[in-house]
Amino acid sequence: MRAYRDYLERTTGMTQRQLHALLPKGNEGGTMRAMVLGRISLVEGKPLKLVNLPKPIPGRDQIVVKVSACGVCHTELDEIEGRVAPSQFPMILGHEIVGRVESLGSAAKRFRKGDRVGIAWINWACGKCSFCLNGGENLCDTAKWTGKDADGGYAEYTVVSEDFAYPIPEKFSDVEAAPLLCAGVIGYRALRLSGMEDGKVLGLYGFGASAHIVIQVAKHKYPDGKVFVFTRPKQEEHQDLARKLGADWIGATGDTPPKKLDCAIDFTPVGEPVREALRNLQKGGRVVINAIRKTTLIPELDYTEHLWYEKEVKSVANVTRRDAEEFLPLAAEIPIIPETREFKLEEANEALLLLKEGKIRGAGVLKIAE
Ligand SMILES: [Zn+2]
Ligand SMILES: [Zn+2]
Repeated sequence: MRAYRDYLERTTGMTQRQLHALLPKGNEGGTMRAMVLGRISLVEGKPLKLVNLPKPIPGRDQIVVKVSACGVCHTELDEIEGRVAPSQFPMILGHEIVGRVESLGSAAKRFRKGDRVGIAWINWACGKCSFCLNGGENLCDTAKWTGKDADGGYAEYTVVSEDFAYPIPEKFSDVEAAPLLCAGVIGYRALRLSGMEDGKVLGLYGFGASAHIVIQVAKHKYPDGKVFVFTRPKQEEHQDLARKLGADWIGATGDTPPKKLDCAIDFTPVGEPVREALRNLQKGGRVVINAIRKTTLIPELDYTEHLWYEKEVKSVANVTRRDAEEFLPLAAEIPIIPETREFKLEEANEALLLLKEGKIRGAGVLKIAE
């Protein structure tokens, strides 16, 4: 194992101490390939390194999952660049995981070997605090997040408590299901929090992985509602996709739409669209911010123009298991087939860079196994 750690030290830039903590002792289960993050870096520096690591072993109530696909999410950009830093290094990122149960812990009973399951951002919650007891496990102080506090899906195998895995409806291929697990689930939560109702106007700022799923849910649930989509100027690929998915009006952030927005969801990584959404908002409306971090500040607000008349701003933080359990069957019923672009595991750095540049139409997904 020592020679192996020396090799990893050279190839990953991690310290012996970090590697010692990462590699379990006496692991006889074989190795797996993984793309790991050793330290906070810029995405442009191709920070993920391909390494061989021991395959995980399930704890009592855990399952080991052979990963077939893992979505690439904006949150990974925040993790890599330190806005949402992983709680330890090295870390295997990735929280839109689809795979098959490979092995089970002695007390794990929900699934059988070979079952197809998904794993999302919520990796574990305490189940005892006031948030957990009142349906708000997304706000639990001691919760763990997949790919941030526990190793995620940019690898051939991963491990999770059986209570935090979900059956995947047959309707979807592995690659199609992956983006549903974050972009889809959190988009569903954001739509619920927005207060959208049939006949109303919903504004979507940004049209990436999450928004292109939300528009499909909104069109299904609110057939007489309208959806207005705002993208970066001249982001034609995103605008074409919005048109194809039934957007009632498409413009650029900064444009004034033909009608006021009764509610809006901001999916962008920057601050300006929040003010824009408030400016275009109907009295009593609500803007929901679906972002874990912003790379720029929300610009100064003018109280009269942006907030008066009981306008509200609300953020979305994380997801609950209930969001995933409600959304996955709904997505199959509609059905929502996410637009995806496949990458290989070892192409994760390239996929992340394209995501950062806003150049992936729909959702990027690492295809790891058949
Ligand atoms: Zn995500
Ligand atoms: Zn809790």
